[in-house]
Amino acid sequence: MRPEKVARALKEYVDNLDKENFQSIPEDDILRGLREIVGEKWATNDPIIISSYVRSIIPPDVELNFYIVMPENTEQVSKIIKYANKHNIPFLPRSGGTALSVATPTILSNATSLEHGIVIDLLRLNKLEIHPESSTATLGAGITSFELQKAAYKQKLRANVAEAGAHVCANIATTGVITTWGNTYGCFADNFIDLELVDNDGDIKNHRDMEISNPYTTEHGFTNISLSPSYIITETTVKLYPVFDDEEAVFVPFDNLEDALDMIITLGKRGVGLSLAVLSYKYLAEFICPTPQIAKDFEDICKNYLKLRYVVDVICNKDENKPPSGKLLTAYAS
Ligand SMILES: Cc1cc2nc3c(=O)[nH]c(=O)nc-3n(C[C@H](O)[C@H](O)[C@H](O)COP(=O)(O)OP(=O)(O)OC[C@H]3O[C@@H](n4cnc5c(N)ncnc54)[C@H](O)[C@@H]3O)c2cc1C
Repeated sequence: MRPEKVARALKEYVDNLDKENFQSIPEDDILRGLREIVGEKWATNDPIIISSYVRSIIPPDVELNFYIVMPENTEQVSKIIKYANKHNIPFLPRSGGTALSVATPTILSNATSLEHGIVIDLLRLNKLEIHPESSTATLGAGITSFELQKAAYKQKLRANVAEAGAHVCANIATTGVITTWGNTYGCFADNFIDLELVDNDGDIKNHRDMEISNPYTTEHGFTNISLSPSYIITETTVKLYPVFDDEEAVFVPFDNLEDALDMIITLGKRGVGLSLAVLSYKYLAEFICPTPQIAKDFEDICKNYLKLRYVVDVICNKDENKPPSGKLLTAYAS
């Protein structure tokens, strides 16, 4: 829960190593070709650098037989894919690297990881433009949900984004951005206006092109369930929403799931609330409490003293919650 200390200690350790003993890894033909596309500094086959991608896009326990390449723009992504195809080398994009950490123990791990080949790290695609006049933002694949939200808030706007460390383009391509704000803002294709894509042949396309396919369609059949993208999203234009001055959060405690779900479904059907969620006491303990001991105590108090198992969390405007006729109260009473 406190990664900075470890990161700082590791950095100091590396700074104090004897640089004379560092080995440079010989360049091979493939690396030379990648460096011609992105520049000397932005492609490597150094196992030390490659090892920092293990468990984020490279699964544990595989040989570190990889190239890491960091393109700066969509054209370079396109050239890398054409180059990889020409040499018959597998490739996969890597954004925030959060997906594999969640998918590793599941059947989805193969779909979100690469056993050998070229890791295309998209971090350098870091364009971020907020357009208050159209309530949209245009951003590159290197931008995280947190960065977008921070920039949008400065203009009193809100993006519909999920996990803070996930990159927005990767989130659109994988889980489709499913959030507690979905009641009002929607999910999947509701989130974006346009995408810039590079397909598996290395051709650059836009979502507005007439012949583009729905990014969420697959062939029928179980074996086609996959998180492996058939394209790389390099840039997107997403929708932004107003942040109202009178927003407030209401927590309604429940001792059972059925009643909590009943309330949230009623609110959803009546269009009450900007954001709706049912949170279990375990979720609250893990996400809110700063130490494992506080989390354990919090769970204990919820279970044994407050009889609280679930909380319906509603973010709404003041008039939705104003007694006696507020929409929230009316819906709840019904
Ligand atoms: C704690 C936690 C909570 C989460 N909660 C939610 C949630 O509530 N709602 C939700 O929607 N999601 C949620 N997620 C999932 C998260 O949004 C995904 O992990 C995210 O979409 C992956 O983003 P990333 O930047 O980490 O991608 P990575 O882990 O780097 O990549 C994931 C996969 O997408 C591919 N990929 C990466 N970038 C691109 C791109 N630009 N174009 C195409 N393919 C690409 C990669 O090859 C890989 O297969 C959660 C994740 C975590 C860790």
